[in-house]
Amino acid sequence: MFSIRHCLLFSSSLLRFSARHPTRKIFIGKMSTTTNNSTIQQRFENIIKPNEDKRNYLGLKLTNNLKVILISDPETDISAAALSVHVGSMSDPWQIQGLAHFLEHMLFMGTKKYPNENEYSKFLSQHSGNSNAYTGDSITNFFFDIAPEHLASGLDRFAQFFIEPLMLESSVNRELEAVNSEFEKNIKDDSWRLLQIKKLLGSSKHDFYKFNIGNYETLRDGPNSLNINIREELFKFYEKWYSANMMCLCVYGKESLQELTEMVTSLFSLISNKNIEPPNWPIHPYSSDNLMKQVHIVPIKDKRTLELVFTYPDEIKHYKSSPGMYLSHLIGHESKGSLLSELKRLGLSSALLSYYDCMEGFGFFHINVDLTEMAMNQIDQVIILIFQYIQMLKSNGPKLYIFEENKGLNFIKFNFMEKCNPIDYVQKISSEMHYYPIEDVLCANYLIDQFKPELINEHIDYLKPENCIIAISSKSFEGKTDSKEKYYGTDYKIINISNDLIEKLKNPGHNEQLMFPEPNEFIPTNFDIITCNNSKDDDIKKPKLLKNTEHYRVWHLHDQIYLKPKVFLGFKLINPIIYSNPYNVNINSLFTMLFKDDLTEFLYNAELAGLSFNIQSTVMGFDLEFFGYNHKMNIFIKQIFEKLLNFKPTEQRFEIFKEKYSRNLKNYKTQPLYYLTSYYLKSVTSELFWSYDNLIEALDRMDIDSIQHLMKIFLTNFSIETLFHGNIDEKQVLDIMDFIQKNVIEPNRSIPLHKYHQSVPREIVLEPGCSYSYEVINDIQKPKAINIYYQVSFDDIVETSKLLLIGQILSEPCFDYLRTKEQLGYVVYTKLREFSGVYGLNFVIQSDYNVSYLEDRIEAFIVWAKKISSK
Ligand SMILES: [Zn+2]
Repeated sequence: MFSIRHCLLFSSSLLRFSARHPTRKIFIGKMSTTTNNSTIQQRFENIIKPNEDKRNYLGLKLTNNLKVILISDPETDISAAALSVHVGSMSDPWQIQGLAHFLEHMLFMGTKKYPNENEYSKFLSQHSGNSNAYTGDSITNFFFDIAPEHLASGLDRFAQFFIEPLMLESSVNRELEAVNSEFEKNIKDDSWRLLQIKKLLGSSKHDFYKFNIGNYETLRDGPNSLNINIREELFKFYEKWYSANMMCLCVYGKESLQELTEMVTSLFSLISNKNIEPPNWPIHPYSSDNLMKQVHIVPIKDKRTLELVFTYPDEIKHYKSSPGMYLSHLIGHESKGSLLSELKRLGLSSALLSYYDCMEGFGFFHINVDLTEMAMNQIDQVIILIFQYIQMLKSNGPKLYIFEENKGLNFIKFNFMEKCNPIDYVQKISSEMHYYPIEDVLCANYLIDQFKPELINEHIDYLKPENCIIAISSKSFEGKTDSKEKYYGTDYKIINISNDLIEKLKNPGHNEQLMFPEPNEFIPTNFDIITCNNSKDDDIKKPKLLKNTEHYRVWHLHDQIYLKPKVFLGFKLINPIIYSNPYNVNINSLFTMLFKDDLTEFLYNAELAGLSFNIQSTVMGFDLEFFGYNHKMNIFIKQIFEKLLNFKPTEQRFEIFKEKYSRNLKNYKTQPLYYLTSYYLKSVTSELFWSYDNLIEALDRMDIDSIQHLMKIFLTNFSIETLFHGNIDEKQVLDIMDFIQKNVIEPNRSIPLHKYHQSVPREIVLEPGCSYSYEVINDIQKPKAINIYYQVSFDDIVETSKLLLIGQILSEPCFDYLRTKEQLGYVVYTKLREFSGVYGLNFVIQSDYNVSYLEDRIEAFIVWAKKISSK
């Protein structure tokens, strides 16, 4: 990924998604350390952690009231730290909206101890580190990672931001430009536009109403006209809110807890404590004046969505019973009898998401539905269906088996949680520390062990028409709106929901298609690790070719390193016919979309139980991937293959997806420009390439019969390359391959693919010293983007390693030179590119400057970098 140093994240402090999320505790990590550290007020030695987690945890409350969680992981190859402050954009002064976010940027600009503005990022990048930060409604989070031996020095530089920042005068204008360009980058992003509309639907006196990112208007011109000195305001805001008692710190290192304790206390106890109260909003931004409205919005992208937003209580304190999780699990369910299943059957939707978020003192419950073209004329029916489902939940009452299943799934999820990147881990923990007791921070999102039917009943009562705002986005509202949102320029219109509809929603009636989900057959119960007789080093590290037939090769690696009850399986079904012309590419892409859509109900329970499946069409054929707990994997694979062989889409789904696919293709020019430059680059360097325009031309020749017969034709002449890796032995692998032989290969009387048809498509070789330029005009987007590609090495490990190293060395200076100093644009990055074994380096900028200027600047940077490196 490219480096966006400062990104403003989502609106809400805590998002909780439906079913696919979390639950519950297991192990008490008791450990003893003996320090007589006078800066420590309280120690928390019993942080609940997953069974499988070998790391040590310690919680501290320092005498300045700063809360800390330390994680000691002797095996880590990267250390990290995050500090989150319990204040965000909702606390901006009304006349300087965006100030909290601007402060998040400016805090990096020099400290008393380290006055150079790029000292911190330079130090991190010299030691394999990265940093980032985000501002939410009520939280601002700063985080970084670094090579383990430099953690202490990194922390020293980091701590200074919260002790004595300088916010250098000389950096103000440049960072202002960075914030403004961040805003401009988001201006055409529908999710940001919609968020701002949701804000203006609430009370204009409520802090939720504020514009969170900030731009020239709110941070420069507005304050100037009122004679406000913006830098003084930054310091005022900092002085007011950046207090140790409002901060939570999480540090992840190789050191022992004792060493980490010393490292942290000596630095962070210097942060001053102003003992202020974190902000809280007991009054909801949506009052009865704002509710029962419908808002029609014109989006940028050609998409149709319906979103129901309900006022909901802040239920963080009920995290052990979590009624919101119970409700969003059911409303967002996708199996038979679910709301989505019925919407799909009627051709009204293909995706639905239900989640709730809690701010400090208030919350929202959301139900988002993607609408089909047909649904645009039946919106009331979609809304009635949603209320029928809620009615069904109400009248049947809370179900213990649903709660137990959820609890069990989350129990597994918590205890077999994969280690994530330390930087992501500390960032998440430091944010959640504001909401949960230290002992429960890791497990709070998983620990639901209290079934409280009365609380569920109480919270489901919030989901009523009187508590609701309905937002509908569609291009069809173009020219039919009467207002323009101030910052993003979004066209919209607010109307009252008709009394007639409200009456219907109050008594939506019974719909017999809607029911509770069936019990889940995929939940694993056996987590045993299968022992393996091979103990030679090679057998442990390299996959072994288990069987080689004329139709397939099967590779096997019985995991002896990670020892998890999980398995990964990859199948490459190879037949190059798939990418041989644009028509085939369309058919195959549509096939995978339709097949995935058809699987949704079936896959939903599997996914909840930790089993995943994916299929995608590639230039070579289809890639199938299976991953998850091994206990029920055999049944899962067999069922998927049976479905693949017998797949026949309905006429209705075909039409819906054909329309969706065509629309996405035709919208290709609205994709981010920096992304499009990679696409165009690929178009000129690939030996075989079908452009979006080629695909669009071939669109009208697609028919349902070709989709139905695709697998039959594909399987007449194909090969399989497959890898099994994880907690699975040879016998189980051969059992699955035997199933494929008997059920996929034999019945289709397949001819094996000739080896000449199995080679990968190549990239064009650029002669040394050559230089080509390819320019494309995008008539939709105003900014420009450039992508300069240097092709470097072909399948040469030494050359490639050097290139990797150069890429890493250049990354930070490139950002500093082209973005921080020259302010060329918000998206600036350098990235290693690999295609068919060919490696190269990309320099990418998206900017308002013209491309020849950008090209000059990139070249100037390279000249500068060469000069520096030769020194
Ligand atoms: Zn930012």
